[in-house]
Amino acid sequence: MHYEIAPAKINLTLDTLYKRDDGYHEVSMVMTTVDLNDNLSFEKRNDRKIIIESDHQFVPTDRRNLAYQAAQLMMRRYKIKTGVTINIDKHIPIAAGLAGGSADAAATFRGMNALYNLGLELDELAELSAELGSDIPFCVYGGTALATGRGEIIERLPRPPHAWVVLAKPSISVSTKTIYGALKPGKNEPASGVMKDAIADGDYDKIISTLKNDLEEVTVRKYPQVRKLLGNMNDSGSDGALMSGSGPTVFGIVRKEHQSVHLYNAMKGCCAEVYRIRLLG
Ligand code: ATP
Repeated sequence: MHYEIAPAKINLTLDTLYKRDDGYHEVSMVMTTVDLNDNLSFEKRNDRKIIIESDHQFVPTDRRNLAYQAAQLMMRRYKIKTGVTINIDKHIPIAAGLAGGSADAAATFRGMNALYNLGLELDELAELSAELGSDIPFCVYGGTALATGRGEIIERLPRPPHAWVVLAKPSISVSTKTIYGALKPGKNEPASGVMKDAIADGDYDKIISTLKNDLEEVTVRKYPQVRKLLGNMNDSGSDGALMSGSGPTVFGIVRKEHQSVHLYNAMKGCCAEVYRIRLLG
């Protein structure tokens, strides 16, 4: 048996630069991991099947699961002849903008590497994982990184200053594809370069003032409750608030633990699903 932790990510920036000929948006984003994890276990089987187990009612247990697809890709690429049972203990909210599925897939690339003693480097796993999804290479490394291209080109960054994060997830699911589809070409100034420098300098105030997500205006237009939650975060003492990924999860950042407790309690009054966690980076 082998175990992997699959942490969720939040976006500190998400710049949409232009739409490419292949249909993807060229993006530039700074992402960082938070201590909200799925826990995965991997066990070799006597047959050649890939079996996904999960107690969570909305986690697909067939080939739609990104962990299934990751295991299948590893088995094909490295000619692995025995199957695997993957158990997913799900804690990351689904379709929330927190890359839960991508985190599980990334953990599966690492897990298969360890289970079958393949001796592959993270760089090799990240490159292979880009075939499955744009957010997976970041999740293979974890930590904090600048992601460019369609999100699959990763430059690892230092750990940001310690901070607390309060996540609020409205009870709606948002399709990343729909949000990108509704994105109008904008003239927004990209923020990821400034964020990268702010992190390199360990400058908390600059990190806060540089938080920016180009998808936010698209999602709040469709889902007013997301706009409301952003307002609640700002009014309840967060130093900065932003939507993560394509949403709908909104997060607020504070420095001190007591501020996070205050923010958490305030947000509990406006949203059913709230988490108080650390920025892991
Ligand atoms: P991103 O931030 O990368 O857009 P997300 O957090 O918005 O991702 P996910 O939680 O990855 O979204 O789920 C999106 C869809 O993917 C779900 O509707 C679900 O059916 C499917 N899915 C596939 N594999 C998984 C998995 N391991 N965990 C959760 N959902 C999965």
